[in-house]
Amino acid sequence: MVAAAAVVAWILVEPFLRARRRARQRARTLDEADRMFLRRRVPVFVRMPKPLQERLEGLTLVFLAEKEFIGCQGITVTPHMKLAIAAQACLLVLGRDEHVYDAMRSILVYPGQFVVPGEWHDEHGVVTEEERVLAGEAWDVSRIILSWEDVKASGRGPDAYNVVIHEFAHYLDHEAGAFQQASVLAGELESLRAAVDQDEDTLLDPYAAEDEAEFFAVTSEVFFEQPGQLQRCHPRIYDALAGFYRLDPAAWS
Ligand SMILES: [Zn+2]
Repeated sequence: MVAAAAVVAWILVEPFLRARRRARQRARTLDEADRMFLRRRVPVFVRMPKPLQERLEGLTLVFLAEKEFIGCQGITVTPHMKLAIAAQACLLVLGRDEHVYDAMRSILVYPGQFVVPGEWHDEHGVVTEEERVLAGEAWDVSRIILSWEDVKASGRGPDAYNVVIHEFAHYLDHEAGAFQQASVLAGELESLRAAVDQDEDTLLDPYAAEDEAEFFAVTSEVFFEQPGQLQRCHPRIYDALAGFYRLDPAAWS
């Protein structure tokens, strides 16, 4: 009875304590060396207005305080590696109130791409076992896996490739049903499939045509990495994502 009362009390009090803890962490800012690192490593950080930069710093500090980073296959996850991952993850929740991936516990970092066992079901229900090589995976509600080689390559090249944005977008989509909420995206997915079938050149990586989840994750990468191009080429996708993320990155300088 006493134990049950304690559990109930904890359930009631915990959100209040968490909000207070987060407010304390968010009031802090990064030190100058870390801020310089972010400016070099996450170019979108430089483009956003100052108040958003400050908000991103606060969210990043909350993320770093709450989530555990686990190095796999012998890799040591340094403070700068954590910072690069945390800041890009928090970019996706910059416009969303107090949402810092509440149920997420840990980020597993592999040195490079990793192999996971999987199953493939054909239309007759026959199951084939197959291994998949991945750069990242939103594994479940509490874990995300990333290849550090791919994190390093993210946000830098001429394309929109960003594995951190991709996997955390999967996570948010899964949690919030983002694709389902934005009904316009289903029609845009069909248009992309038609373009891919015709071998047309598309701004969006053809991998986005795979299914609803990949469409949301890939378009999220382009939304943050090439917002102006997305807005010009696919204004309906841009507007749907701007509504979901509550951000307008095309307006950033
Ligand atoms: Zn994906």
